Amino acid sequence: MNQNELQDGLNIICGNGGDSMGKSVLLFSGGMDSYAIAKLTSPDILLYCNIGLPEQMNEIQSINAMNLDGFNVIFDDRLYLRDQKLNNEIVPMRNLFFVMIGAYYGSHVTLGATAGDTTNDKDYEFADKTNEVLRHIFSNPNKNPSTIMGSKGFTVSLPYKDKTKSQIVKEYIDAKFSIRELVNTRSCYSSGEKECGVCRSCLRKFVAFASNGIDISSHFGINPMTSIDSALNYAIAKNRGEEINEIRVAIKNMGG
Ligand SMILES: [Zn+2]
Repeated sequence: MNQNELQDGLNIICGNGGDSMGKSVLLFSGGMDSYAIAKLTSPDILLYCNIGLPEQMNEIQSINAMNLDGFNVIFDDRLYLRDQKLNNEIVPMRNLFFVMIGAYYGSHVTLGATAGDTTNDKDYEFADKTNEVLRHIFSNPNKNPSTIMGSKGFTVSLPYKDKTKSQIVKEYIDAKFSIRELVNTRSCYSSGEKECGVCRSCLRKFVAFASNGIDISSHFGINPMTSIDSALNYAIAKNRGEEINEIRVAIKNMGG
């Protein structure tokens, strides 16, 4: 798929064809998914929200080291949510806050949600309801953010919600973007210098590459193959068919 086709795809998803005043904003974490989606969709703005989590220091460092030539990257730190983080790594309502902040920068906000995301603030129902609430708020033209004022309306969209990480990595590779740059993104929950290779986020990243036949085990502090069985058992316990298949393909590709 070439860049024009991708751009057209984005226009259809966002409904912003011919809308010169509305900017597209991708909520950007610096992780593998959002980096791939940024390259594949070329939004006007990459928005990173720093909410004061310790691991964000590494994320910000990683973003600063990335090849983001041609992108307008904005770091927004008006929110502090560190005290709300749960032991399971979830920060409740995080994405609702991010979408609202996104509306301060543009009228078409995209979340890099994928098929494996299971939080309720990253699904289609969330997008529909958030669209409804924000469009209601923005129905008074005198009380809108300036980013919404000249636009043809507000949208939140999840263009990759039906794709797994493995499928996104494949699409990225097929579009001939740099594999090294994608490996060097940061999705790990730990605050160590290297990505740990043990947390769920690291295991999902490893599987996304391994299922495409690319071994990135040396990128991690600990080889993810040592924890892959627990990831497989977790996917089986949660009855996640696609994830189970991809982990099995990954194990097979890595000679396990
Ligand atoms: Zn990790």
